[in-house]
Amino acid sequence: MIAIRLQALQDATSRKPLSVEFPSAKVSDYYGINVFDKTKMEQYLSKEAYNEVIKAIEQGTKIDRTMAEQIASGMKVWAMERGATHYTHWFHPLTEGTAEKHDAFIEYTRGMGMFENFAGNNLVQQEPDASSFPSGGLRATFEARGYTAWDPSSPAFVMNQTLIIPTIFISYTGESLDYKTPLLKSLAAIDKAAVDVCHFFDKEVNKVIANLGWEQEYFLVDESLYQSRPDLVLTGRTLIGHPSAKDQQLEDQYFAVTPDRVAAFMRDFEIESYKLGIPCKTRHNEVAPNQYEIASIYEEVNLAVDHNMLIMEIMRRVARKHSFRVLFHEKPFAGINGSGKHSNWSLSTNAGVNIFSPNSSSKLNFQFLTFIVNTLKAVYENADLLRASIVSASNEQRLGGHEAPPNIISVFLGEQLGRMLDNIEKTVSGHNITPEEKTELKLDIGRIPHVLLDNTDRNRTSPFAFTGNRFEFRAVGSNTNCASAMIVLNTIVANQLKQFKIDVDRQIKDGIKTEEAIFNTLKKYITKSKAIRFDGDGYSEEWKNEAEKRGLTNITSCPDALKAWISPKSKALLIENGIFSEKEVEARYEISLEKYAKKIQIESRVLGDMAINHIIPTAIKYKNILIEHCKGLKDLYSDEEYKTMASEGLELIKEISKHATEVKRKVKEMGNERIKASKHENFEKKSQAYAKIIKPYLEEIRDHIDRLELITDNSMWPLAKYRELLFIN
Ligand code: ADP
Ligand code: MG
Repeated sequence: MIAIRLQALQDATSRKPLSVEFPSAKVSDYYGINVFDKTKMEQYLSKEAYNEVIKAIEQGTKIDRTMAEQIASGMKVWAMERGATHYTHWFHPLTEGTAEKHDAFIEYTRGMGMFENFAGNNLVQQEPDASSFPSGGLRATFEARGYTAWDPSSPAFVMNQTLIIPTIFISYTGESLDYKTPLLKSLAAIDKAAVDVCHFFDKEVNKVIANLGWEQEYFLVDESLYQSRPDLVLTGRTLIGHPSAKDQQLEDQYFAVTPDRVAAFMRDFEIESYKLGIPCKTRHNEVAPNQYEIASIYEEVNLAVDHNMLIMEIMRRVARKHSFRVLFHEKPFAGINGSGKHSNWSLSTNAGVNIFSPNSSSKLNFQFLTFIVNTLKAVYENADLLRASIVSASNEQRLGGHEAPPNIISVFLGEQLGRMLDNIEKTVSGHNITPEEKTELKLDIGRIPHVLLDNTDRNRTSPFAFTGNRFEFRAVGSNTNCASAMIVLNTIVANQLKQFKIDVDRQIKDGIKTEEAIFNTLKKYITKSKAIRFDGDGYSEEWKNEAEKRGLTNITSCPDALKAWISPKSKALLIENGIFSEKEVEARYEISLEKYAKKIQIESRVLGDMAINHIIPTAIKYKNILIEHCKGLKDLYSDEEYKTMASEGLELIKEISKHATEVKRKVKEMGNERIKASKHENFEKKSQAYAKIIKPYLEEIRDHIDRLELITDNSMWPLAKYRELLFIN
């Protein structure tokens, strides 16, 4: 064991940056080369088939069988030219990753022998044996067949000699078993609701697109050091490890120069991503040592989510080539920053107008304000559901901790925009706006773009911040599929916009002018949702107290937070907007709780094993050395001299014994509690037991082990330490 750590350290420090073959062409020359995008479709499909696909993408129409044959055969020709021998349906089950099952193009008939084929029905639908994906009791084993269906709105691509077809994944009875199905439904809901509201301002709008720009944070660890840590290998985070004497306190990491080894890795995975049409834009060092970020240019939400899942896969693979492991866990190291996936969300119209962008036309500014206020109100009304969409066992470690958004959902607007809303609230009085007030308001609204231009306010402590032309949802975890956050965000805003239209239409029917009806409604919403607005320091203790006074919730435990999925209010919202059936919501809730319990169970087992197999034996070995040392002194010196000479040794022996005994005792207790927890048939009770009983043991045991790490001979310590894991040279 000792040898493993020291050998790993030697390996890690002697590594040189890998030389990467960079294409000599400009990025724009090979960008999207492995994607079956519109240009390639035009080239490889008949005009008829091409038009059919475009219609399916733009209007969600069904593609008929004969057409599917044509499209599949065009796709096959293109894919084989790009070196593909296999094809697969690719989907996002309710785990953290993606799933695929590869089939070769080759087929055999007696007449033709071996030949390559890709039939229309292979493109459109598949039946993976899906019995081992999480289904929350939706798919009993006897009806284990789920099926995948092609999603033409996300283009197929070639990776690893395989034609990959993005699909949805549903059970035979039609329930969604994935993230993409409800995501597409939520996108349709926000499109419809937003178009209806846009018509108050611009009758020409016929489509509203939701956009997502993700910022993916991650840590890198040297492969050998990673292998020396069973906790990293099995849980993705360190369950033990004393903080390094130096970590991020000098603030010398953020935007610092990237080590050559890391830079080579970044460029390598970016090239792979460009070939797959993923628009990587910004890369930099993050705040913690060994922490980095890659951000893409924003895209339509469905595509952006696929691209995010894909880039995580690419990064994992390319990292191995560079002898790194990439850690997407939200909190791989205690005491320093965790990783998030800031999700920048906006809405734009078919005319290319970003609805969240202040505009020089006062009509569009009025639209801008309307959408801002409705988003505020949606978040205010559904803060608990929004939180439920991003919590997990791993994000629970991050939220509310070191430099991470708190568990209290609030919205940052910035001073100027906030003041603007305050003005509306003050000025508009009841149903009669005076002509002066109207002029004033118009002036005010007309000023928005100029006002926001000087808005350099960059509050980084808010979980949900308006950043000039979009909302940035920062509480999303680095490891999660951000579809979950997008599903909820789209749905709550869609629902709110529907309500807004009803409220405005009612007044119009009563003879109030449209503009005035909108003002009145906004004013009412601004007052109602005021509590959610907070521009101050979200990390402070004062905010916790203030939030409580305002009636905002602060739910820190994941199983507690997940309950919001099944509150009558959330259920009604999700069902009425056509996102989930009641069965589906309940299944998702169950899956999330089960996943939580399993994660803590694994962590508890791994920590138990490490404590007993690595830590206690090391403690005993070192103690024996100390005992020998003391015995030796006893032989050499008088009793009087011995007392002083051996005091430090004796004290260490005592201290080691104390911690080792506690570790042993607590591991045993934790094991017994685990048995009890696992016996709960009820998944709510089970996850609560893991959260409230097992999880605290992890902290307590860790504390004793970290103390042992500090007093044990460095050369004997079996596990790579924080200071070794965290600094790549
Ligand atoms: P910061 O670190 O300041 O948050 P980054 O440059 O790291 O900024 O990330 C900004 C992200 O926001 C990028 O993914 C970018 O594409 C995205 N973004 C910019 N404008 C929009 C928009 N209108 N809608 C959605 N996302 C956007
Ligand atoms: Mg950001």
